[in-house]
Amino acid sequence: MSLDLTGRVRPSLVGFEPYDPAFTPCDVNLSANENTHELPAAVRAAIERALLSTPLNRYPDPLANELRDALAERHGLERSNVIVGNGGDEILFNLLFAFGGPGRTVLTCPPDFAEYANFGAMCEADLRFVPRSEVDFSIDEDALLAAAQDAALVILTSPNNPTGGLVPRSLVERLLTETDALVLVDEAYVEFAPEGASMVDMLAGHPRLMILRTLSKAFALAGVRCGYLLADAAVVNELSAIRQIYSLDVLAQATALAAIREREHLRPVIEDIVAERRRLSLLLGNIAGLEQWPSEANFILVRVPHASTVRQRLRDERSILVRDLSAAPGLADCLRISVGTRRENDLLVDALTALVGKETR
Ligand code: PMP
Repeated sequence: MSLDLTGRVRPSLVGFEPYDPAFTPCDVNLSANENTHELPAAVRAAIERALLSTPLNRYPDPLANELRDALAERHGLERSNVIVGNGGDEILFNLLFAFGGPGRTVLTCPPDFAEYANFGAMCEADLRFVPRSEVDFSIDEDALLAAAQDAALVILTSPNNPTGGLVPRSLVERLLTETDALVLVDEAYVEFAPEGASMVDMLAGHPRLMILRTLSKAFALAGVRCGYLLADAAVVNELSAIRQIYSLDVLAQATALAAIREREHLRPVIEDIVAERRRLSLLLGNIAGLEQWPSEANFILVRVPHASTVRQRLRDERSILVRDLSAAPGLADCLRISVGTRRENDLLVDALTALVGKETR
């Protein structure tokens, strides 16, 4: 019999399950919003050179200053405005650890990235939700402003995972001027949105604004685990003090630095994904019974009758994996489909065309 930890685990952590990416090996994996393209050869080569010359016997630079400098330069900021983490996930956890906690209200607009609520609960924040419209997933701005009056932290996602839309800049502006909350805009997918969608330029003059970015999506480095936060130097200092000291290992730092330096080579890949998103959306529009929402990210949210069965048949009969979100509030019968390569998208559309509407529970 295994050890019974009842009464031993910290109460706020009871009942949490290990994260389940619902991953099954498949020929076509469109389930995790990864970039499914090969890394461009020039980026790959630069990374390999960097890895080969990285000593493994020494501890990493805890704050990854060389990488912070490259990221600061990318965004026209200073090193003191950048902190890196083991994926955006680590930074999200640390933000909730630092600014959540008992008696502190953390506000989100679900459906959104499930980790906000998970990490918030682990850190004993007083989680409050202003759910998005069930029709078009827009945010009720007045309701959010009202709820944010006594919030410690408001988290908005732009483009939002899993619904795909952008958060209006005017809403973030209002939150920053009409409330006293810290405001996190999670821009994990912003490279796939039109020019000007990022709110990084708003950091100047808005010290309570924080912007989360990651190399897991546009940079095709989900396996490397590197995310970063752009924020006021005081926020960066606070997070620097509480983070796991060596959370980004030497290989991750070297890889991320090489990829940031070679980022121009990633532009055509991102353009291809954006073009494929448009094409995929048009093709999905031909499938009777399928509803979809406009997306500025590298995925499309769709609703189909009997979504869970459709997802299972895609996996078992076609070896195509998509994400079933139908159990989440507001997302009945919804699947999230990452935009893949042209070939992957064609396989998906063929399979969905055959399966949707011909399915019973
Ligand atoms: N924010 C959003 C909205 C996400 O969807 C994800 C990953 N799915 C992350 C942050 C974290 O990404 P990572 O830890 O890979 O940087």
